[in-house]
Amino acid sequence: MTTKTKPARKLKPVSVRFIKPDSEIGQRMYALLRELVLRYHDEIADAKIALAWQTTWQPDVDGRVTLGQCKKVGDLEREVADLHAFDFVILLQQEFWQDPRVTETQRRALLDHELTHAAVKLDEAGDAVIDECGRVAYRVRKHDLEEFSDIAARYGCWKRDLEVFASALDRARAKPPSWVGYTRLREQLIAVGATIPLDTIRSWSETERRTAQTWAEIRLELPTSIDFDCPAHVTAGREGHDDVEPSAETHAS
Ligand SMILES: [Zn+2]
Repeated sequence: MTTKTKPARKLKPVSVRFIKPDSEIGQRMYALLRELVLRYHDEIADAKIALAWQTTWQPDVDGRVTLGQCKKVGDLEREVADLHAFDFVILLQQEFWQDPRVTETQRRALLDHELTHAAVKLDEAGDAVIDECGRVAYRVRKHDLEEFSDIAARYGCWKRDLEVFASALDRARAKPPSWVGYTRLREQLIAVGATIPLDTIRSWSETERRTAQTWAEIRLELPTSIDFDCPAHVTAGREGHDDVEPSAETHAS
């Protein structure tokens, strides 16, 4: 008897994954969420907010990537989900959030921004609207400008910056690894203000050269307003600290 092996079934990707509050990363993320709510978002202190990964967002035609979204949970879900009911779900682009090159401040700014979208629905008298089941009614607040002025005051003009940063990371991830030549790397580093002696570059491992190159490529694309930490071996190898302005200023809008 012959056994036919079925071809491996292609499974449909799931675009949204709930981040469990008791998972390792969940503990840190919900702690940050609580901290931000306590500090800046009094209004929604009683709202139940879920965090979820979004894994399938694609850049738009201009290369801008969506990094987060705040969604109000509708009446149906609120009703059916029973005990576990949430008032809001904040979706976060997983690849971005977990990229080691993204800084804590950038993650904070993103989450804080999404939290600013979460608001209580008010009546004409300015009181919270309560639904027939006794629950506070919520709404999703729109941006006042392209960015909420509160967020801009706390983190600067981070949103546009972060989108540029995220698409630069996307491109760096998509690039296949190739040999990193010494002279070319030296030139790339000079272009972003890090002058490193050729001998120092020669002493680096291939991984160190690749890390330095990725840093230089991304740094070149970023507005100077974005902090993007230089790898330690690059900092250590710099001749003095010739802070030449990177030539990426044209990206600032
Ligand atoms: Zn927004």
